[in-house]
Amino acid sequence: MQTNVSFQSLGLDPLLLKAVQRLGYASPTQIQAEAIPAILKGRDVIGSARTGSGKTAAFLLPIIQRLAKHPVRRTRVLVLSPTRELAVQTENMLKELTRGTAIKGKAVYGGVGMHLQVRALREGVDLITATPGRLLDHIRRGHADFRDLQVLVLDEADRMLDMGFFPDVRQIITDLPKKRQTLLFSATIPREVEQLARQIMHEPLRVTAGQQYQPPKSIHHTVYPVQEHLKTRILIELLQRGGIKSVLVFTRTKWRANRLAQDLFEEGIRAGLIHGDRTQSQRENALEGFRTGREKVLVATDVAARGLDIQGISHVVNYDVPPSATDYIHRVGRTARVDATGDAITLVSPNEEEDLRHIGRDLGHSFLGEEVPGFNYDAPPPIRPPHRTGRHGEFRPSRSASRPSRGQSQRWRGGSGPSQGDARQSGDQDRPQRRHPYRRGQHGQRRVRAGSETRSRGRRRYYGSNH
Ligand code: AMP
Repeated sequence: MQTNVSFQSLGLDPLLLKAVQRLGYASPTQIQAEAIPAILKGRDVIGSARTGSGKTAAFLLPIIQRLAKHPVRRTRVLVLSPTRELAVQTENMLKELTRGTAIKGKAVYGGVGMHLQVRALREGVDLITATPGRLLDHIRRGHADFRDLQVLVLDEADRMLDMGFFPDVRQIITDLPKKRQTLLFSATIPREVEQLARQIMHEPLRVTAGQQYQPPKSIHHTVYPVQEHLKTRILIELLQRGGIKSVLVFTRTKWRANRLAQDLFEEGIRAGLIHGDRTQSQRENALEGFRTGREKVLVATDVAARGLDIQGISHVVNYDVPPSATDYIHRVGRTARVDATGDAITLVSPNEEEDLRHIGRDLGHSFLGEEVPGFNYDAPPPIRPPHRTGRHGEFRPSRSASRPSRGQSQRWRGGSGPSQGDARQSGDQDRPQRRHPYRRGQHGQRRVRAGSETRSRGRRRYYGSNH
């Protein structure tokens, strides 16, 4: 994915050339080669590039070059992100790239106390990376001063401009100087979003690196059709067979994520857990454990689908089929970062087949349903004891599972299909709930087609374009 242009030829100062060398970047990626010169010239840019292709550095490098000219501790750059983890990740990348300079950045996000953020903002920061809700709190209380703002970045721009976030983002934008540079980046920028974006931009340059609206070519996609109640069993089987080094597992709801993490725990598989009902320290701890390899499994809702850059994720599992092709691209894009390869596995129950077909059609791809050889597809549904969660819905291993051992218990538990609990608890705090009018019921629950559970036999079938 690297280009044969050099960082020198992009017009970057020696300070930044040293920084990229320190990070081991041999040459710019395509999005960097195309976006950096335009941003250095002060152009507004709408940039789309496949997941994991270095877009953060594509906007941070030229921004730092501008900041380095006069570090004054007045906020001149604002980066808005859809999740806390992404805001922190961008702050960390900024720290890496500005080591040895006086440039100061601060991540401002919810779920933690205001105090340290207020102190940093009062002392003055050159760049703020923020989630919209918490930033609005600071703006309303007079902690943030954007009079000197020069650059606004909407990272994961299509999320920032969708119905969930847009009211907050619009309000923030009204507080910013009109004369500024605006940069938008995402792997997926639908036409309607681009039209909306153009209203807040000045003659933006469109920069597209690689194929639009596609997962990286280096991802291998596998689909396993399976009855809903066998999803957990098949996942455990895949984990126990080996070959999966590090896996991020996405569920549809927080409730299902809790339950899956507990079921894995009871099988002796320790998994981290991230969703919008977990405390910030639990979220950070889970992410840290996964990054460092303490846990090789991380169970998450779509709150972890955007932007997270974790080296070495070999597999992404869609325990539940994602709601749209866009979500599919972002979820599976957590693997195959930069030049790596990766595997995406989707478990599809009979009720989800239509959704997967839509995704295949939108991506112009045919997913072939396959069988896991030797897996017992005839196992009966398990009897489930009531699920335990803490006051905030956090994962609490039940007492009987406090000392897990591999194969300790035959009481593995599969999923049990969409339930009221799923519908009540769907959606995530960082992620204002979206409506998918064609694929969801009025309250976000999946539409269930009568009799579809009976059509599971014969798993070799295609989902997607021409099917
Ligand atoms: P991003 O798409 O911004 O999340 O970046 C994905 C990964 O690519 C991060 O781990 C970056 O450190 C890495 N990266 C960014 N630019 C380059 C480059 N030019 N060469 C190699 N790796 C890069």
